[in-house]
Amino acid sequence: MSWIDRLLDFVMPRFCPICGRRLAANESQLCSSCLLGLPYTGFLERPYDNLVVDRLYGKIRNFERGASLFYYMYDDRRNFLFDLKYHDRPEMGLWLGQEAGRQMLRTGFLDGIDAIIPVPLAPSRLRQRGYNQSELLAQGISEITGVPVLTHVARRTTFTQSQTHLSTEQRFENVKNAFLLVDADAIRHRHVLIVDDVVTTGATTTALASQLSTAGDVRVSVFSLAIVKQHHR
Ligand SMILES: [Zn+2]
Repeated sequence: MSWIDRLLDFVMPRFCPICGRRLAANESQLCSSCLLGLPYTGFLERPYDNLVVDRLYGKIRNFERGASLFYYMYDDRRNFLFDLKYHDRPEMGLWLGQEAGRQMLRTGFLDGIDAIIPVPLAPSRLRQRGYNQSELLAQGISEITGVPVLTHVARRTTFTQSQTHLSTEQRFENVKNAFLLVDADAIRHRHVLIVDDVVTTGATTTALASQLSTAGDVRVSVFSLAIVKQHHR
């Protein structure tokens, strides 16, 4: 550890967003014990047989494979995903994307995939939040794997109401027309990876995928940072 790192650590101590403990110099975003305790799914090891695939199978045309890195529990307020989504921590999104990218390289999850498409945010939501967390994840994955990110291919047409209190059927109806394909040529005859932050019912992912499919001969795989384990209602 260089003297400059020591000095920085002294004047600007960093803290683990999950447990609040002070981070050591060799700890990047989370402390080592919280990092070990993350609810990894192991889905990248079996991308054709897991909960994401179960949730999306039959809904997306030319669906190839899917994975989530973590399980997500709504009721855990200490959940670091809560920080990623609702607090101002864009560097966490990027770092998690890099973490996912390393695992994707190791497992071959991206083999044959031509481009990464993060789920677009509505412009008003983007202004409000300052960044698109799915895009940060996608950038992190791309930095590690070299697979390009395409952000111009589709855009969000509507500012959909919060989905939290809707039933599964209502969610699908709510987002059905939420996306518009704007560059079909960029993805025709291609295999794309949709990247989302949290998959709950799969309604948002499905809506985006069906727009992308209209480009013609598009194969779709899906990666989300997290998946809600049980979705009641
Ligand atoms: Zn911690």
